[in-house]
Amino acid sequence: MIIVPESAVRDLVSLEDCVNAVEKAFVSMAERSAQNFPVVREAIGYEDALFGFKSGFNREGLALGLKAGGFWPNNASKGLTNHQSTVFLFDPETGRCRAVVGGNLLTALRTAAASAVSIKYLARKDAKVLGMVGAGHQASFQLRAAVQQRAFEKVVAWNFHPEMLPKLAAVADELAIPFEAVELDRLGDEADVIITITSSFQPILKAQQVRPGTHLACMGTDTKGKQEVDAALFASATLFTDEIAQAISIGESQHAIAQGLVAPVDIGEIGAVISGRIPGRSSADQVTLFDGTGVGLQDLAVAQAAVELAIARGTAVEIEI
Ligand code: NAD
Repeated sequence: MIIVPESAVRDLVSLEDCVNAVEKAFVSMAERSAQNFPVVREAIGYEDALFGFKSGFNREGLALGLKAGGFWPNNASKGLTNHQSTVFLFDPETGRCRAVVGGNLLTALRTAAASAVSIKYLARKDAKVLGMVGAGHQASFQLRAAVQQRAFEKVVAWNFHPEMLPKLAAVADELAIPFEAVELDRLGDEADVIITITSSFQPILKAQQVRPGTHLACMGTDTKGKQEVDAALFASATLFTDEIAQAISIGESQHAIAQGLVAPVDIGEIGAVISGRIPGRSSADQVTLFDGTGVGLQDLAVAQAAVELAIARGTAVEIEI
């Protein structure tokens, strides 16, 4: 069995590796050669922790496994990050455990890769201004991945906690892209692409704040009750997601679906856009929206990439089980 410790992941996989791996996983999902299994997420009644599994099998990529982990709110006081996860990959021929891979950084990278893939396939080619709604842990990953997809000349950002914005500004500075903290009206007025990555339970962006031609990547809503854009904005857009079943239950789609404003058939799978089976953006003034909910097959795809790279570079640690 191969072990890729958390500390090795940073030097093994790049954002580009993750974008490629996630893109392929989305296609396999849309072509029904890969399946996510039901998600388990439970409050364990200890340390206020939430623990669960995301799992699946990709017959094409031969990725079988699960990500186990969750949220430990008291970890900060122990010098650890609150989100903890580990990916377990199994040999689909035999069921033997093939690899154990640290999943914390990989989770951030695969989430950034998902919004980047949506920008690659759905944003206008001439997009120049990137709007960031959110400035927490994930926001800087989403920003780094987004700027690889279009020649963004400026970042405009808004956050519910404005004191968190300088950290995001520092990332933009490192990427040599001008950064401005703005009010939401101006963000919507200027941005060609907007990424929302917050833990909000109330709609932040409204329909009247987004101009024609915008691409929205809504990445923060991954739980029942969370919401980042109002249902009217959601319903006015051409809609895409990673997995429809998950989007309508725990993704941004849940609200417009519950209000009867859209039906599951109105939402396209991003994998089908990538493979060319359904159209993506069809006009320059269309608003496109990607509801990125985060699926297990994304985790397996990037963990598999990490394992293959560790083997190729001769750094894989192998043990007998
Ligand atoms: P974080 O705790 O580091 O940051 C939280 C962000 O939400 C900050 O920008 C904060 O200011 C903002 N926020 C907090 N309360 C708010 C409120 N009441 N209204 C508006 N904004 C508020 O979290 P993170 O790691 O950056 O993750 C952000 C979100 O993304 C979380 O909801 C997380 O569950 C989700 N997430 C989704 C995926 C996916 O695959 N879709 C993957 C990872 C994380």
